[in-house]
Amino acid sequence: CGIVGYVGAERGEKALNVVMEGLTRLEYRGYDSAGIAAVGEGAVETRKRAGKLANLVTALGDAPLPETSTAIGHTRWATHGGPTDQNAHPHRGGLDGKLAVVHNGIIENFHALKQQLQGRGVTFTSETDTEVVAHLLSEAYGRTPDLTQAMREVVNILEGAFTLLAVHADQPDVVVGARRNSPLVVGLGEGENFLGSDVAAFIGYTKQAMELAQDQIVTITPEGYEVMNFDGSPSDGKVYEVTWDA
Ligand code: GLU
Repeated sequence: CGIVGYVGAERGEKALNVVMEGLTRLEYRGYDSAGIAAVGEGAVETRKRAGKLANLVTALGDAPLPETSTAIGHTRWATHGGPTDQNAHPHRGGLDGKLAVVHNGIIENFHALKQQLQGRGVTFTSETDTEVVAHLLSEAYGRTPDLTQAMREVVNILEGAFTLLAVHADQPDVVVGARRNSPLVVGLGEGENFLGSDVAAFIGYTKQAMELAQDQIVTITPEGYEVMNFDGSPSDGKVYEVTWDA
């Protein structure tokens, strides 16, 4: 229901702090579970818990995530699968532990996609519609090791409403986002960039924002961003200044 993404230049505590603060600011949207993924050395690690953000904070205290420059977070409003730790986002794709995804919305054709994936031997660990996206992205990344291209391939077979963020351990300085019928905003910083389902996700850090249009993909790195339409053509976002105070 709420989404936050961050990429900065240095490994440290900031990435996780930004994402947790963003999730706190997005609490007003309502949620039943929360989770976060940190891009570590060679793997993406996740922590996720049903219930209040306080439960996630406790989980992070018990088993801290590694210092990172790149993180994504999610507060969930369950539509497919009950509010459990397993169904909380981020979801992992593939068996190598390198890819994680968060999702707002509903993948209408998830059932058919899940059957196809299961037919190819993929094992599911949650009841969510979202997990199909994680496995499809992992498969696409295996064919074309570029997260933006993998996202483009996958969004074109999805139906429904989605804001998606994905990270991959082999591209540790990248977060890729995509949107259809669901909002996604980019926050522009210096040497760092942000993604949010709402500007509230990053308003404590930057007032420079960019709204994505329908059916667009954005790739953020510490230095900048690139926007692409689902058909692969390049695009420009509209940059504006957020005028309300944090
Ligand atoms: N449909 C997804 C799920 O149930 C995402 C729900 C949301 O937008 O939080 O896990």
